Amino acid sequence: MSRHRFEAYLDKVFDFSGLVGQLPEGRQYPQHPWKKVFDAIFLGAAMQRPSLLQIQEDCRSGALAERIGPISDDTFGYAMERQSPEPIFALGCEIARRLKRNGVLRSNWSRGLVVAAVDGIEICSSFVRCCDACQQREVKHKVDGKMRTDVQYYHRIVVVTVVSSPFPVPLGVRFQKEGEGEVACALALLQDLVGHLGPRFVDLLVGDALYLQAPFVKAVEELGMGWVFNLKENQPELLQEASRWTAGPPIGIQSETDRELRWWHLPEVDWPVADRSVRVVKTERVDQKRQITVSQEGAHRKKSKTVVTQESTNFYVTNFQLGSIPPLFIHQVGRSRWRIDTQVFQTLTADCHLKHPAVHQSTAIIVLTMIRLLAYTLSLLFYQRQVCSHARGDPGTFLEFAKRLAYWFVALLPNTT
Ligand SMILES: [Zn+2]
Repeated sequence: MSRHRFEAYLDKVFDFSGLVGQLPEGRQYPQHPWKKVFDAIFLGAAMQRPSLLQIQEDCRSGALAERIGPISDDTFGYAMERQSPEPIFALGCEIARRLKRNGVLRSNWSRGLVVAAVDGIEICSSFVRCCDACQQREVKHKVDGKMRTDVQYYHRIVVVTVVSSPFPVPLGVRFQKEGEGEVACALALLQDLVGHLGPRFVDLLVGDALYLQAPFVKAVEELGMGWVFNLKENQPELLQEASRWTAGPPIGIQSETDRELRWWHLPEVDWPVADRSVRVVKTERVDQKRQITVSQEGAHRKKSKTVVTQESTNFYVTNFQLGSIPPLFIHQVGRSRWRIDTQVFQTLTADCHLKHPAVHQSTAIIVLTMIRLLAYTLSLLFYQRQVCSHARGDPGTFLEFAKRLAYWFVALLPNTT
């Protein structure tokens, strides 16, 4: 039987089967070895299957019948609940290290630097299902037309993703613990990542205004990273100071047909609560958008085009030593953080079903999320490097590609090649 193209590629680039084969076994008397269980869940996640029940069907009589063979969804849950998440975290780091060696993590716009974004997202909120590790809150909601207050269970995760690469590459995920804030969780994740990847793996960390806090910024620097964070009202003194010094005309303007970008640069602004000075770049973006409005004139509807102006102002704070690099670079880095929201979290939740627990037990949910993230990274890598770059016509979407993955397994039945 010939190898599936996706798996053959992962073995060629990463020796993926070898790495998965080295993961320790969590159970004492396993009926199916962990590698086989892992492969089933990983391939199911790459095919963007929403539930373990569906992967069970794939293994019994669907796309994975030949490749894996029958395994029950109970076995998936039981095996994952007894598996330690750390070795899978380490596997993700090993993949990232090899991607960096292959030059995948940086691009021209980032000037050869590896830029990573950090952000949090909520997953698996439920009024019914919970586990030992769930966080909870009281929520008012409508049931049968009546408002009532119920306890809602949920999990929050923090993800660090490389955004300087041609496509985003997640480095790791961590579940927020009860009573732990997003920033504390992010720091613990970054420390774990540096422990596995070494101190100079990520050059610049980018995040929203929540991360612009004196202790966090100090800790990030101690981990050997530069940083670019948004400045908003949560640092009022610094914002006031930065606004005051950028009230005059901009130092640069970039005009295109329907867009204008203006920027200001303050190499040294005093940040009293942190007892230091920082660099601030302010940008103002004006977009002219054409909108079609429909108005009623007597019996007729009239379409007319109007130009709407949208303005957005951003302040970015950084410790990055620009040297001869133009200040607009900080704006580019600051904006790259949107890729974690618009690409990674969007795809993971819409296509890869990250918000649906599929299994809701305290350890299994972590293990499943890590495997899903790994499947996302590696299937996206394959899609970009093998499908898109080799396609003669339209390569199709990532979602369509996931469906094709499943078809390839069916096409690989014995004697077909
Ligand atoms: Zn839970």
